[in-house]
Amino acid sequence: QTQAPLLAQFMRRSFSYLVASEQQLIQNLKRRNEDLLVTLDSLRQTQAELARVARVTTVGQLTSSIAHEINQPLAAITSYASGCHNLLAQPQPDLVQIGNAIGKMGGQAKRAGQIIRGIREFVRRQEPHRSACRIEELIDTVLSLLKAELQKNQVLLILEAEANLPPLYADAVMLEQVLFNLMRNAIEAMCETPANQRQLTVRLVRERHLLKVQIIDRGAGIAPEQLEQLFKPFYTTKATGMGMGLNICRSIIEHHQGRLWVEPNPGGGCRFIFTVPFSEEPQAHEP
Ligand code: ADP
Repeated sequence: QTQAPLLAQFMRRSFSYLVASEQQLIQNLKRRNEDLLVTLDSLRQTQAELARVARVTTVGQLTSSIAHEINQPLAAITSYASGCHNLLAQPQPDLVQIGNAIGKMGGQAKRAGQIIRGIREFVRRQEPHRSACRIEELIDTVLSLLKAELQKNQVLLILEAEANLPPLYADAVMLEQVLFNLMRNAIEAMCETPANQRQLTVRLVRERHLLKVQIIDRGAGIAPEQLEQLFKPFYTTKATGMGMGLNICRSIIEHHQGRLWVEPNPGGGCRFIFTVPFSEEPQAHEP
């Protein structure tokens, strides 16, 4: 009997101690969660910066190819200009012909401007930013950077795109970086392939709400035990490789709620495949 109030008091104290501990625990969890969000944010920024450094490095390695690509429209402008000059020197200049040549000069100048704009955007420091973009345009920009590499390595490009693909909701520059890395790796993988079989296929397929992009080469292929190794940071088999390309590509695609993997190509070589959702996903966040 006499122990009952003591027991009640003990129970009350234990209960309020439990409530206080629980509140303390919740506070701690909240603080940890906030710390985690800050860490996640700075990790995301570091990843974006790393991706940008890789883009700048790539463009640095490709300066001679890019210069060659820009030189082509410039050379065309020079020859149209000298053609105009000759036409104007005639006693009765053919104004229609001169007008045509000037129109073509304008077109070539626009092309050179597009290439330079593409490069500037590719290396610009900017926060990751998703917006509506078209895969065909991204491929076009990447090809303007890689065209000279394709020619130099005698690689035939085949583009197979399903008609009327909807726009993507993505960071255009980051997806360009993925396309660029995969296509450049494919070109490099075919250096030992006989020239008449060097074929790079870019296939765009719609799979319900996903765009599926396949980059298919006819290179030496990849041993089954290496298929996952390739995506690890600093894994490279190239004398001057950095081994970060595929790792960066995978993190970019995963930030877009997609997947990137590689499989052997039935016709020889391998195919890298990635998916990206077409429209804005409810859980989508900035990559
Ligand atoms: P890097 O190109 O600097 O080596 P990556 O991360 O882009 O870095 O590629 C890692 C490695 O994966 C390459 O060194 C190469 O061995 C292999 N690899 C990538 N793409 C292909 C491909 N298309 N065919 C065969 N091997 C490839």
